[in-house]
Amino acid sequence: MAKRGRRQPSEPKPFFWISLQGKSKPQKDEPVPHDRFSGWSGRIELEIEVCSDYLYVGSGNFDLFPLQGKDQARYTFARRNGHLVIPGTGIKGVVRSVVEAISNSCVLLSAREERGPGSHRPCNDPDNLCPACRLFGTTGYRGRVHFSDAVPVGNAETTTIKIADLWRPKRFEGRKFYQTKAFQPQDMRPQKNYRFLEVVPKGTRFRTTLFFENATTAEMGLLVRALGLALHMNKEGTVVYAFPLKIGGAKPRCLGSVYFHPKKIQVLSVTGANLFQSLLTGGDYQGTKQMLEWLADKSLVDQEAWAEFREKAKPQTGVPCPKEVY
Ligand SMILES: [Zn+2]
Repeated sequence: MAKRGRRQPSEPKPFFWISLQGKSKPQKDEPVPHDRFSGWSGRIELEIEVCSDYLYVGSGNFDLFPLQGKDQARYTFARRNGHLVIPGTGIKGVVRSVVEAISNSCVLLSAREERGPGSHRPCNDPDNLCPACRLFGTTGYRGRVHFSDAVPVGNAETTTIKIADLWRPKRFEGRKFYQTKAFQPQDMRPQKNYRFLEVVPKGTRFRTTLFFENATTAEMGLLVRALGLALHMNKEGTVVYAFPLKIGGAKPRCLGSVYFHPKKIQVLSVTGANLFQSLLTGGDYQGTKQMLEWLADKSLVDQEAWAEFREKAKPQTGVPCPKEVY
C-alpha cells in the first residue's frame, strides 16, 4: 500500500473536466407545458455499439463462475427476464450529463460529497429551469425525453474480467467525464481489493428508442449533439460521430464507451387531423435531412464548452487506462 505523503508516480487519469470557472449562470426559462402538442414529438431508433474493450452495466447482483477449479463471485451484468439489458434511465442520465455540459445548465450531482459552485446549483423552481432540466425534467416537472431499456441486437455473449477496486474522488473541478482509452487486463488470480465483473466485449450492439415530446428545434439540436453526433467541420450537409459516450460502471477502468447510431427517425405531424394519422402510423420517416435541420440550431449550445467537449472526449484508443488504484 502506498504510504501517506510519499506518492508514487501515478498513471495519467482517464477523465477530464469541463470547467465551470468564468461561466455565467444558466439561462433559465419557463418549461414547455405538457397539455398540448407543440414543436417536435416523435422517436429516434438507436443502436448502441460498444467501442471500448468492454461494457459493464451493474445489476446489483452477484453470481458464481468457475475459476481455477473453484467457484468465484462476480458482479453480474443487468438482466430483465433473463436477457441482458441497459436500463433506459441510465442511458438518459448519461445523455443528460452531456446536455448539461454543452448548454451551461445546472449541475445535478450524483455523489453527495461533491460540491458544485453556487452559480450552477440544481434548479429548484419548476417554473424557471435551465435547458437540461426543461428537457429532462426535475422535481415538479416531468421531462420530455425518455429512453426505452436497451436490449441486445442478436446474440450477446458475456465474459469475465478482473479490475482493481475503485474509490470515488472527492474533489470538484467542474463537470467530470471519462475518456476512451485501452483497458489493461489483470491476471485472473483472486485477490483482495480486486473484483470480477461480467461484461460484454467491444462490438456488442444494443437497441433502444429515444422518445421526445414538444421539443423546440434548439432542444433537438442539443439532444442530437449529446448523442455524440455533429455537423462535419468542413463538409457541409454531413453528420459525423463526434465522440463516444460513456455508459455503465467501471468507467475509471475505461469501460463503457459507446457510439449511438441513429437507425430511424419518426416525427409526429402535429397539425390538426394529421395528428391522429401520425399516432396510428408512427409518424413520418425522416433521415439525415432531419438531423441537419436540428443540428443547424445552435441557440442553446454553449459553443466554448461544446468545442472543449468534442476535443477532450475524442477516443485515445492507443493510450493505456490505469489498472491500479489512483
Ligand atoms: Zn437545472
